Amino acid sequence: MLNVVLFGPPGAGKGTQSENLVKKFDLVHLSTGDIFRANIKGETELGNLAKSYMDKGALVPDEVTIKMLESEVKKHESPKGFIFDGFPRTKAQAAALDALLAENNTEVSAMLALEVPEEELKIRLAKRAETSGRVDDANPKVIQNRIDVYQRETAPVAAYYQDQDKYRGINGIGTIEDIANRLYEALEA
Ligand code: AMP
Repeated sequence: MLNVVLFGPPGAGKGTQSENLVKKFDLVHLSTGDIFRANIKGETELGNLAKSYMDKGALVPDEVTIKMLESEVKKHESPKGFIFDGFPRTKAQAAALDALLAENNTEVSAMLALEVPEEELKIRLAKRAETSGRVDDANPKVIQNRIDVYQRETAPVAAYYQDQDKYRGINGIGTIEDIANRLYEALEA
């Protein structure tokens, strides 16, 4: 299986590039943010809980997020692989993902980390707010909080994959196509 962790700060282009990777490698796309938003829309218990964290730009607790991700992974019988978009965001989530994949006799193949400077992220998120309808894109304070949470809690996850020699840094500046080609090359190398 090809199991890719697509990593990077909010606004780095994970969602956009996931679409490209899904098409190219025929993977199942699991975006924890998208799954939470679908639950909010459906007014489920999980959605109500997640919303209280997401609206502030905070992380949904590990226990809740991990349980949800596990049940999503189990929905797919013999996929070619997964692209994990926005997960793991903490070291506890990374360890849980390793354990889950190991149970299925597979593992993370690579972490592809989109690298984009903070100023550019803010410009992209403000622009995305015009069309995304996302509460957390519309407020500059929430955007700043998401970036701070990323630096504090999520960036250390990169070291987890560096230790396993699975980390690949990708320049996230350029056209969508250029960046997609960098990702393909990193996976095909
Ligand atoms: P995203 O769509 O990846 O930008 O995620 C939007 C929001 O969903 C985040 O700011 C978090 O509140 C929540 N979220 C998404 N993925 C996770 C995760 N792996 N762990 C905790 N919270 C998450």
